Amino acid sequence: MNIKRNILLNPGPSTTTDTVKMAQIVPDICPREQEFGGLMKGLREDLVRIVHGDLEKYTSVLFCGSGTINIDVCLNSLLPEGKKILVVNNGAYSTRAVEICEFYGMPHIDLQFPVDEQPDLEVVEKTLKENPDIALVHTTHNETGTGILNPIREIGALAHKYNAIFTVDTTSTYAMRPINIEKDNIDFCMASAQKGLMAFTGLSFVVGNRAIIEKSKDYPKRSYYCNLFLQYDYFERTGEMHFTPPVQTIYATIQALKEYWAEGEEAKWARHTRVFNAIHEGLDKLGFKDVIKRELQSGLVVSVIYPDDANWDFMKVHDFCYERGFTIYPGKISTTNTFRLCALGAIDEDDIQAFFKVFEEALRTYNIAIPAKY
Ligand SMILES: *Cc1c(COP(=O)(O)O)cnc(C)c1O
Repeated sequence: MNIKRNILLNPGPSTTTDTVKMAQIVPDICPREQEFGGLMKGLREDLVRIVHGDLEKYTSVLFCGSGTINIDVCLNSLLPEGKKILVVNNGAYSTRAVEICEFYGMPHIDLQFPVDEQPDLEVVEKTLKENPDIALVHTTHNETGTGILNPIREIGALAHKYNAIFTVDTTSTYAMRPINIEKDNIDFCMASAQKGLMAFTGLSFVVGNRAIIEKSKDYPKRSYYCNLFLQYDYFERTGEMHFTPPVQTIYATIQALKEYWAEGEEAKWARHTRVFNAIHEGLDKLGFKDVIKRELQSGLVVSVIYPDDANWDFMKVHDFCYERGFTIYPGKISTTNTFRLCALGAIDEDDIQAFFKVFEEALRTYNIAIPAKY
């Protein structure tokens, strides 16, 4: 089969290989059959291995949903009665976590920092010291809206110093930037199959500390469908997901994991870094500027400032590129107009070079100044 190859530079879903695409085409199967349960057991263990977790201490729990389901699950399931959540917030995805706290009416502190700066660890520590009822600290590893990388190991150490657990939204770093769950002081991290794993939408998962999940059995139940203990317990007892799993996505994810191990953690990260550097090179050549200081960037997302040019029209440039097989994506910063180019997916630097040829052609077609005006 000949499937058109699109280069996705949006922050997920990402470009997939043909072998992962084809892995979805399987004979019909009822996911309650033992054969399918066996597949999920291996998958769950692999998801723990990716973050170098000890399989005795850590486990993974699968959910059918987009990545946001993981944030919802972790926050609503892991907060004991009478305690508080601290969200270390410097971007759109941590703001989403704050909104989840608001929706469930869970006591929380929204500790805000500028979107283009890393959180001030002294302020984080002071907040923990002044609020001994904080039982859960949450932050985002790579704020995908801007591409800033947060110092999770340091924030995790502070959380543990003040007896709180640490949950991290690693949706846009997992299986890309190497993570070591234990050394990085993470109790729970999370991702979706369509991002770093380069598979499809519909499967999300939380990787975390088994003992803490077991302890959460008696915590307030705030959701039926999105409860971590209930899903974990069902898996442990039956090997199955409580409700219907995304069957085809699971087949594709198992193939994607084979390809992940074949490529290797270091080689994969080196490839994403090559792509990221090629994005910067292309932007530099055309005079475009990015929002976040280079040394604070996660190496996966570049947030580009709109040029100060009357002819600049993001949608026109987008459509021009889209028609030629390249997808670029709007930004997510309320105060600055930006667009994003991301280094996710089964792509390499030659794809980025091909993209910049098309992007430059778009600029010339619409009389947008080169170098870009600011
Ligand atoms: C993609 C992403 C999510 C999940 O978003 P969905 O639209 O629900 O898939 C969550 N957190 C981060 C940091 C992300 O990049």
